[in-house]
Amino acid sequence: MSIESFANQHVLELVAYQPGKPIEETARELGLDPHDIVKLASNENPLGPSPKAVEAVARAAAGVNIYPDGAAFRLRSAIAEFCGVEFDQTVVGTGSSEVIELMCHALLNPQAEVVAARHAFSMYPVMSQLFGSTYVEVPNKPDWTHDLNGFLDAVTDRTRIIFITNPTNPVGTVVTQQEIDEFMDKVPEHVLVCFDEAYREFSDNPPDTLKFVREGRNVIVLRTFSKAYGLAGLRVGYGVAPEHVTGMLHKARAPFNLHVLAQEAALAALADAEHVRRTVENNAAGMRFYEDAFREMGLEWIPSQGNFILVKVGQGRKVFDDMLARGVIVRAQDGYGLPEWIRISIGTPAENARCLEVLREVL
Ligand SMILES: *Cc1c(COP(=O)(O)O)cnc(C)c1O
Repeated sequence: MSIESFANQHVLELVAYQPGKPIEETARELGLDPHDIVKLASNENPLGPSPKAVEAVARAAAGVNIYPDGAAFRLRSAIAEFCGVEFDQTVVGTGSSEVIELMCHALLNPQAEVVAARHAFSMYPVMSQLFGSTYVEVPNKPDWTHDLNGFLDAVTDRTRIIFITNPTNPVGTVVTQQEIDEFMDKVPEHVLVCFDEAYREFSDNPPDTLKFVREGRNVIVLRTFSKAYGLAGLRVGYGVAPEHVTGMLHKARAPFNLHVLAQEAALAALADAEHVRRTVENNAAGMRFYEDAFREMGLEWIPSQGNFILVKVGQGRKVFDDMLARGVIVRAQDGYGLPEWIRISIGTPAENARCLEVLREVL
Protein backbone atom coordinates (compact mmCIF):
# COMPACT_ATOMS: atom_id res chain seq x y z
CA MET A 1 0.00 0.00 0.00
CA SER A 2 1.54 3.33 -1.01
CA ILE A 3 1.65 6.21 1.44
CA GLU A 4 -0.12 8.42 -1.13
CA SER A 5 -3.22 6.28 -0.79
CA PHE A 6 -3.62 7.70 2.71
CA ALA A 7 -3.12 11.31 1.61
CA ASN A 8 -5.92 13.84 1.57
CA GLN A 9 -7.48 13.71 -1.90
CA HIS A 10 -7.64 17.51 -2.15
CA VAL A 11 -3.90 17.69 -1.51
CA LEU A 12 -3.12 15.11 -4.20
CA GLU A 13 -5.27 17.04 -6.66
CA LEU A 14 -3.61 20.34 -5.89
CA VAL A 15 -1.81 22.18 -8.68
CA ALA A 16 1.09 23.81 -6.83
CA TYR A 17 1.73 27.56 -7.05
CA GLN A 18 3.79 28.45 -10.14
CA PRO A 19 6.35 31.11 -9.25
CA GLY A 20 8.10 33.37 -11.75
CA LYS A 21 11.01 31.63 -13.47
CA PRO A 22 14.24 32.13 -11.46
CA ILE A 23 17.18 34.00 -13.00
CA GLU A 24 19.74 31.28 -12.18
CA GLU A 25 17.65 28.55 -13.78
CA THR A 26 17.10 30.61 -16.94
CA ALA A 27 20.80 31.48 -17.20
CA ARG A 28 21.74 27.80 -16.85
CA GLU A 29 19.25 26.71 -19.52
CA LEU A 30 20.33 29.40 -21.99
CA GLY A 31 24.04 29.16 -21.19
CA LEU A 32 24.05 32.88 -20.33
CA ASP A 33 25.56 34.91 -17.52
CA PRO A 34 22.90 35.56 -14.84
CA HIS A 35 23.78 39.27 -15.13
CA ASP A 36 22.53 39.25 -18.72
CA ILE A 37 19.07 38.04 -17.71
CA VAL A 38 16.31 40.58 -17.13
CA LYS A 39 13.64 39.28 -14.73
CA LEU A 40 10.40 41.23 -14.77
CA ALA A 41 8.21 38.38 -13.59
CA SER A 42 7.53 38.60 -9.86
CA ASN A 43 6.83 42.28 -9.08
CA GLU A 44 10.06 42.58 -7.11
CA ASN A 45 11.71 45.93 -6.36
CA PRO A 46 14.06 46.73 -9.28
CA LEU A 47 16.05 49.21 -7.16
CA GLY A 48 16.98 46.50 -4.68
CA PRO A 49 16.41 46.46 -0.95
CA SER A 50 16.75 49.56 1.21
CA PRO A 51 20.48 50.02 1.97
CA LYS A 52 19.45 50.42 5.60
CA ALA A 53 17.89 46.95 5.54
CA VAL A 54 21.08 45.50 4.09
CA GLU A 55 23.09 47.10 6.91
CA ALA A 56 20.65 45.74 9.47
CA VAL A 57 21.02 42.21 8.11
CA ALA A 58 24.81 42.47 8.22
CA ARG A 59 24.68 43.72 11.81
CA ALA A 60 22.29 40.97 12.90
CA ALA A 61 24.15 38.13 11.17
CA ALA A 62 26.53 37.55 14.07
CA GLY A 63 23.57 36.89 16.37
CA VAL A 64 21.88 34.07 14.47
CA ASN A 65 22.93 31.43 17.04
CA ILE A 66 20.04 32.76 19.19
CA TYR A 67 16.38 31.99 18.43
CA PRO A 68 14.47 35.02 17.18
CA ASP A 69 11.96 36.89 19.31
CA GLY A 70 8.92 34.72 18.66
CA ALA A 71 6.60 37.65 19.41
CA ALA A 72 8.57 39.91 16.99
CA PHE A 73 8.05 42.64 19.57
CA ARG A 74 10.09 45.44 18.00
CA LEU A 75 8.87 44.82 14.45
CA ARG A 76 5.22 44.49 15.45
CA SER A 77 5.48 47.61 17.63
CA ALA A 78 6.83 49.54 14.65
CA ILE A 79 4.09 48.17 12.37
CA ALA A 80 1.43 49.09 14.96
CA GLU A 81 2.76 52.63 15.13
CA PHE A 82 3.07 52.88 11.34
CA CYS A 83 -0.55 51.76 10.90
CA GLY A 84 -1.96 53.57 13.93
CA VAL A 85 -3.29 50.38 15.56
CA GLU A 86 -2.58 48.43 18.76
CA PHE A 87 0.30 45.97 19.07
CA ASP A 88 -2.17 43.12 19.63
CA GLN A 89 -3.85 43.95 16.34
CA THR A 90 -0.77 42.84 14.37
CA VAL A 91 0.58 39.51 13.18
CA VAL A 92 3.69 38.91 11.07
CA GLY A 93 4.44 36.06 8.70
CA THR A 94 6.99 34.72 6.25
CA GLY A 95 5.48 36.87 3.58
CA SER A 96 1.83 37.83 3.67
CA SER A 97 1.38 34.41 2.05
CA GLU A 98 1.96 32.86 5.46
CA VAL A 99 -0.63 35.14 7.02
CA ILE A 100 -3.08 33.91 4.34
CA GLU A 101 -2.16 30.35 5.31
CA LEU A 102 -2.80 31.13 9.00
CA MET A 103 -6.24 32.51 8.11
CA CYS A 104 -6.95 29.28 6.24
CA HIS A 105 -5.73 27.17 9.18
CA ALA A 106 -8.08 29.02 11.47
CA LEU A 107 -11.18 29.13 9.29
CA LEU A 108 -11.17 26.64 6.43
CA ASN A 109 -12.26 23.02 6.15
CA PRO A 110 -13.92 20.92 3.42
CA GLN A 111 -17.33 22.50 4.16
CA ALA A 112 -16.07 26.07 3.87
CA GLU A 113 -16.17 28.40 0.87
CA VAL A 114 -13.83 31.19 -0.17
CA VAL A 115 -14.84 34.08 -2.46
CA ALA A 116 -12.41 36.06 -4.63
CA ALA A 117 -12.27 37.75 -8.01
CA ARG A 118 -11.61 35.87 -11.21
CA HIS A 119 -7.93 36.41 -12.24
CA ALA A 120 -6.81 36.94 -8.64
CA PHE A 121 -3.55 36.06 -6.86
CA SER A 122 -3.15 32.30 -7.31
CA MET A 123 -2.16 31.67 -3.68
CA TYR A 124 -5.87 32.09 -2.80
CA PRO A 125 -7.07 29.04 -4.75
CA VAL A 126 -3.96 27.05 -3.85
CA MET A 127 -4.55 27.64 -0.13
CA SER A 128 -8.30 27.08 -0.36
CA GLN A 129 -7.75 23.73 -2.04
CA LEU A 130 -5.05 22.76 0.45
CA PHE A 131 -7.75 22.87 3.12
CA GLY A 132 -10.32 21.15 0.91
CA SER A 133 -12.55 24.22 0.67
CA THR A 134 -14.59 25.40 -2.30
CA TYR A 135 -13.13 28.38 -4.15
CA VAL A 136 -15.74 30.67 -5.72
CA GLU A 137 -14.58 33.12 -8.40
CA VAL A 138 -16.58 36.25 -9.21
CA PRO A 139 -16.07 37.67 -12.73
CA ASN A 140 -14.70 41.20 -12.95
CA LYS A 141 -16.73 44.12 -14.21
CA PRO A 142 -16.12 45.13 -17.87
CA ASP A 143 -13.49 47.65 -16.69
CA TRP A 144 -11.61 44.77 -14.99
CA THR A 145 -12.35 45.95 -11.45
CA HIS A 146 -13.70 43.72 -8.67
CA ASP A 147 -17.50 43.36 -8.77
CA LEU A 148 -18.17 43.77 -5.05
CA ASN A 149 -21.94 43.37 -5.48
CA GLY A 150 -21.16 40.11 -7.25
CA PHE A 151 -19.04 39.15 -4.23
CA LEU A 152 -22.04 39.76 -1.93
CA ASP A 153 -24.27 37.65 -4.19
CA ALA A 154 -21.70 34.82 -3.98
CA VAL A 155 -21.76 34.70 -0.17
CA THR A 156 -23.49 31.69 1.40
CA ASP A 157 -23.77 30.39 4.98
CA ARG A 158 -20.56 28.49 4.31
CA THR A 159 -18.46 31.45 3.17
CA ARG A 160 -15.58 32.02 5.58
CA ILE A 161 -13.11 34.30 3.75
CA ILE A 162 -13.50 36.96 1.05
CA PHE A 163 -10.36 38.27 -0.64
CA ILE A 164 -10.42 41.87 -1.91
CA THR A 165 -7.09 42.64 -3.56
CA ASN A 166 -6.40 46.33 -3.87
CA PRO A 167 -4.68 46.98 -6.26
CA THR A 168 -5.37 43.54 -7.64
CA ASN A 169 -2.74 41.24 -9.13
CA PRO A 170 -2.29 40.39 -12.02
CA VAL A 171 -4.85 42.90 -13.34
CA GLY A 172 -3.75 46.09 -11.54
CA THR A 173 -7.16 47.72 -11.02
CA VAL A 174 -8.49 49.16 -7.74
CA VAL A 175 -11.77 49.43 -5.88
CA THR A 176 -12.72 52.81 -4.42
CA GLN A 177 -13.36 53.84 -0.83
CA GLN A 178 -17.04 54.27 -1.62
CA GLU A 179 -17.34 50.77 -3.10
CA ILE A 180 -15.57 49.32 -0.08
CA ASP A 181 -17.72 51.25 2.41
CA GLU A 182 -20.93 50.12 0.70
CA PHE A 183 -19.66 46.54 0.64
CA MET A 184 -18.76 46.64 4.35
CA ASP A 185 -22.26 47.96 5.16
CA LYS A 186 -23.77 44.84 3.61
CA VAL A 187 -21.33 41.97 4.18
CA PRO A 188 -22.61 39.46 6.76
CA GLU A 189 -20.85 38.99 10.10
CA HIS A 190 -19.91 35.32 9.59
CA VAL A 191 -17.31 36.19 6.92
CA LEU A 192 -13.71 37.38 7.37
CA VAL A 193 -12.99 40.09 4.79
CA CYS A 194 -9.34 40.15 3.75
CA PHE A 195 -8.04 43.34 2.16
CA ASP A 196 -4.82 42.24 0.47
CA GLU A 197 -2.83 45.45 -0.03
CA ALA A 198 0.46 44.04 -1.33
CA TYR A 199 0.71 46.89 -3.89
CA ARG A 200 -0.81 49.69 -1.82
CA GLU A 201 2.32 51.87 -1.95
CA PHE A 202 2.11 52.14 -5.75
CA SER A 203 -1.53 53.24 -5.92
CA ASP A 204 -3.02 56.76 -5.89
CA ASN A 205 -5.23 57.58 -2.89
CA PRO A 206 -5.42 54.08 -1.40
CA PRO A 207 -8.68 53.63 0.55
CA ASP A 208 -8.67 53.51 4.35
CA THR A 209 -9.37 49.93 5.40
CA LEU A 210 -7.64 50.11 8.80
CA LYS A 211 -10.71 51.97 10.11
CA PHE A 212 -12.60 48.65 9.97
CA VAL A 213 -9.89 47.11 12.17
CA ARG A 214 -10.30 49.92 14.72
CA GLU A 215 -14.08 49.38 14.59
CA GLY A 216 -13.54 45.72 15.49
CA ARG A 217 -15.08 44.37 12.28
CA ASN A 218 -14.26 40.90 10.91
CA VAL A 219 -11.50 42.14 8.63
CA ILE A 220 -7.79 41.65 8.12
CA VAL A 221 -5.56 44.01 6.16
CA LEU A 222 -2.52 42.31 4.60
CA ARG A 223 0.64 44.14 3.65
CA THR A 224 4.06 42.91 2.59
CA PHE A 225 7.73 43.83 2.56
CA SER A 226 8.18 41.86 -0.68
CA LYS A 227 7.19 44.54 -3.19
CA ALA A 228 7.80 48.27 -2.57
CA TYR A 229 10.09 47.53 0.39
CA GLY A 230 12.32 45.23 -1.67
CA LEU A 231 12.65 42.30 0.75
CA ALA A 232 11.03 39.48 -1.25
CA GLY A 233 14.00 37.19 -0.61
CA LEU A 234 13.67 37.49 3.17
CA ARG A 235 9.93 36.70 3.30
CA VAL A 236 8.20 39.21 5.54
CA GLY A 237 4.58 40.28 5.50
CA TYR A 238 1.98 41.26 8.05
CA GLY A 239 -1.68 41.34 8.88
CA VAL A 240 -3.58 43.99 10.84
CA ALA A 241 -6.87 42.85 12.34
CA PRO A 242 -8.95 43.16 15.51
CA GLU A 243 -7.61 41.12 18.41
CA HIS A 244 -10.27 38.41 18.11
CA VAL A 245 -8.85 37.71 14.62
CA THR A 246 -5.11 38.05 15.33
CA GLY A 247 -5.60 35.83 18.42
CA MET A 248 -6.69 32.92 16.18
CA LEU A 249 -3.79 33.48 13.82
CA HIS A 250 -1.18 33.57 16.60
CA LYS A 251 -2.45 30.18 17.79
CA ALA A 252 -2.04 28.76 14.28
CA ARG A 253 1.50 29.99 13.62
CA ALA A 254 4.85 28.37 14.30
CA PRO A 255 6.53 29.87 17.41
CA PHE A 256 9.51 31.38 15.56
CA ASN A 257 7.97 31.97 12.14
CA LEU A 258 10.01 35.08 11.34
CA HIS A 259 13.77 34.69 11.53
CA VAL A 260 16.20 37.18 13.03
CA LEU A 261 17.44 38.69 9.77
CA ALA A 262 13.91 39.11 8.42
CA GLN A 263 12.77 40.93 11.57
CA GLU A 264 15.76 43.28 11.57
CA ALA A 265 15.60 44.01 7.84
CA ALA A 266 11.87 44.73 7.93
CA LEU A 267 12.30 47.08 10.87
CA ALA A 268 14.96 49.04 8.99
CA ALA A 269 13.00 49.00 5.71
CA LEU A 270 9.84 50.30 7.37
CA ALA A 271 11.80 53.31 8.62
CA ASP A 272 13.29 54.04 5.17
CA ALA A 273 10.44 56.01 3.62
CA GLU A 274 12.87 57.58 1.17
CA HIS A 275 13.60 54.21 -0.47
CA VAL A 276 9.89 53.54 -0.91
CA ARG A 277 9.45 57.02 -2.36
CA ARG A 278 12.22 56.45 -4.93
CA THR A 279 10.74 53.05 -5.75
CA VAL A 280 7.29 54.49 -6.38
CA GLU A 281 8.78 57.28 -8.51
CA ASN A 282 10.75 54.82 -10.65
CA ASN A 283 7.58 52.77 -11.02
CA ALA A 284 5.50 55.72 -12.20
CA ALA A 285 8.09 56.62 -14.84
CA GLY A 286 8.35 52.99 -16.00
CA MET A 287 4.58 52.72 -16.23
CA ARG A 288 4.41 55.80 -18.47
CA PHE A 289 7.21 54.31 -20.63
CA TYR A 290 5.28 51.07 -21.23
CA GLU A 291 1.96 52.84 -21.81
CA ASP A 292 3.50 55.16 -24.40
CA ALA A 293 5.16 52.20 -26.13
CA PHE A 294 2.02 50.04 -26.14
CA ARG A 295 -0.01 52.95 -27.53
CA GLU A 296 2.50 53.39 -30.33
CA MET A 297 2.59 49.62 -31.01
CA GLY A 298 -1.22 49.40 -31.04
CA LEU A 299 -1.31 46.94 -28.14
CA GLU A 300 -4.15 46.77 -25.63
CA TRP A 301 -3.20 47.07 -21.96
CA ILE A 302 -5.01 47.41 -18.65
CA PRO A 303 -4.24 50.65 -16.76
CA SER A 304 -2.50 49.48 -13.60
CA GLN A 305 -2.08 50.94 -10.11
CA GLY A 306 0.49 48.27 -9.23
CA ASN A 307 4.15 47.75 -10.17
CA PHE A 308 3.25 45.57 -13.16
CA ILE A 309 1.19 45.84 -16.33
CA LEU A 310 -0.91 43.34 -18.28
CA VAL A 311 -0.59 43.65 -22.04
CA LYS A 312 -2.45 41.71 -24.72
CA VAL A 313 0.00 40.05 -27.09
CA GLY A 314 -2.01 37.22 -28.72
CA GLN A 315 -0.39 33.93 -27.83
CA GLY A 316 0.88 34.82 -24.37
CA ARG A 317 2.67 31.53 -23.69
CA LYS A 318 4.53 31.72 -27.00
CA VAL A 319 5.54 35.35 -26.48
CA PHE A 320 6.72 34.42 -22.99
CA ASP A 321 8.82 31.53 -24.39
CA ASP A 322 10.27 33.66 -27.19
CA MET A 323 11.20 36.46 -24.78
CA LEU A 324 12.69 33.92 -22.36
CA ALA A 325 14.90 32.56 -25.15
CA ARG A 326 16.29 36.12 -25.46
CA GLY A 327 16.94 36.38 -21.73
CA VAL A 328 13.90 38.42 -20.64
CA ILE A 329 11.62 36.73 -18.12
CA VAL A 330 8.04 38.02 -17.97
CA ARG A 331 4.97 36.16 -16.72
CA ALA A 332 2.65 34.15 -18.96
CA GLN A 333 -0.97 34.40 -17.81
CA ASP A 334 -2.58 31.20 -19.13
CA GLY A 335 -2.60 29.86 -15.57
CA TYR A 336 -4.69 32.89 -14.60
CA GLY A 337 -7.24 32.38 -17.38
CA LEU A 338 -5.68 35.15 -19.50
CA PRO A 339 -3.91 33.21 -22.29
CA GLU A 340 -3.65 36.21 -24.64
CA TRP A 341 -1.86 38.38 -22.09
CA ILE A 342 1.54 38.65 -20.46
CA ARG A 343 2.32 40.51 -17.23
CA ILE A 344 5.43 42.66 -17.12
CA SER A 345 6.80 43.89 -13.80
CA ILE A 346 8.10 47.46 -14.01
CA GLY A 347 11.91 47.44 -13.86
CA THR A 348 14.71 49.98 -14.00
CA PRO A 349 14.78 52.21 -17.11
CA ALA A 350 17.44 49.93 -18.66
CA GLU A 351 15.46 46.76 -17.91
CA ASN A 352 12.29 48.29 -19.33
CA ALA A 353 14.09 49.34 -22.50
CA ARG A 354 15.55 45.85 -22.98
CA CYS A 355 12.17 44.23 -22.30
CA LEU A 356 10.47 46.39 -24.88
CA GLU A 357 13.18 45.82 -27.47
CA VAL A 358 12.75 42.06 -27.07
CA LEU A 359 8.95 42.31 -27.09
CA ARG A 360 9.11 44.18 -30.41
CA GLU A 361 11.43 41.51 -31.82
CA VAL A 362 9.20 38.59 -30.93
CA LEU A 363 5.87 40.13 -31.97
C1 LIG B 1 3.11 39.41 -3.99
C2 LIG B 1 1.75 39.33 -3.39
C3 LIG B 1 1.57 39.07 -2.04
C4 LIG B 1 2.70 39.00 -1.08
O1 LIG B 1 3.44 37.89 -1.14
P1 LIG B 1 4.51 37.65 0.02
O2 LIG B 1 4.16 36.30 0.53
O3 LIG B 1 4.33 38.70 1.06
O4 LIG B 1 5.82 37.72 -0.66
C5 LIG B 1 0.29 39.03 -1.53
N1 LIG B 1 -0.77 39.25 -2.31
C6 LIG B 1 -0.65 39.51 -3.62
C7 LIG B 1 -1.85 39.79 -4.41
C8 LIG B 1 0.62 39.55 -4.19
O5 LIG B 1 0.73 39.78 -5.50
